[in-house]
Amino acid sequence: MKPERKLSQDFVLSIEKLSKRFGGVTALEKINFTVERGKVISLIGPNGAGKTTLFNCITGLYTPDEGNIYYGDAQAQLNHLSAHEIARLGIARTFQTIRLFKNMTALENVMVGAHAKGHTGIWGSLLRPRWVEVEEKKIYKQARRLLAFFELTGRARELARNLAYGQQRKLEIARALACEPQLLLLDEPAAGMNPKEKEDLLDLIRVIRDKGVTILLIEHDMKVVMPVSDHVVVLDYGKKIAEGKPQEIQSNPKVIEAYLGKGVKRC
Ligand code: ADP
Ligand code: MG
Repeated sequence: MKPERKLSQDFVLSIEKLSKRFGGVTALEKINFTVERGKVISLIGPNGAGKTTLFNCITGLYTPDEGNIYYGDAQAQLNHLSAHEIARLGIARTFQTIRLFKNMTALENVMVGAHAKGHTGIWGSLLRPRWVEVEEKKIYKQARRLLAFFELTGRARELARNLAYGQQRKLEIARALACEPQLLLLDEPAAGMNPKEKEDLLDLIRVIRDKGVTILLIEHDMKVVMPVSDHVVVLDYGKKIAEGKPQEIQSNPKVIEAYLGKGVKRC
């Protein structure tokens, strides 16, 4: 029998009883939550809680052992789709450890992101019919717009490896957005940023959300999480220990005991 499930256009993602094990380690245990369309949902919890593993399950890098992930209007089940298929459905991400093409320019990095969605293919690239040229121009213009949005225009022709750390983090988000995702997963985007860069990141996340992109955010800095999140989900040792509005989470004794009370920066 199919599991009972609330179907709603309001949710872009439903995680249901999701479990993932590595040998003896249960990285995720029967995780349930939904992601409301057009919101910022933060995923917090101590190191090793299972946050990145959850991102890896959603994006198809890991296959869950149990449970289901449903996505989009059609509530497509993602469990057995490849990372490439999931990206094409409109889910993009950044990584906890920056994964740029370090020897390509900032502009090229963003254009590669757009190509992941494009239709050119190998024959199109080689034969270059007119429509390929049109698509290339479109991709170029869109990449330029994204660089401008992230205030990286002046660095467009610079190799990614020469960019400052905070700029590399922004470039990763720009590349993810080049796929025009519906759902954007950010894995610790503020890590290594200075306070001013974090402030700017908050504004950027809000603008991206206001453009209609739903955001799932993993972040340790409560000065980032609390003001920007519409909803917060807390993991600890692979289990969901709480979820709710930022203010509720901040005063939840279970969350303080497992995470916030342990030297995590609060607002
Ligand atoms: P978080 O992102 O919350 O810090 P992770 O999802 O990276 O936590 O890790 C959760 C648990 O799963 C940890 O115990 C980690 O060692 C384990 N884990 C994650 N990925 C793998 C893997 N590929 N192989 C083995 N163990 C893994
Ligand atoms: Mg992680």
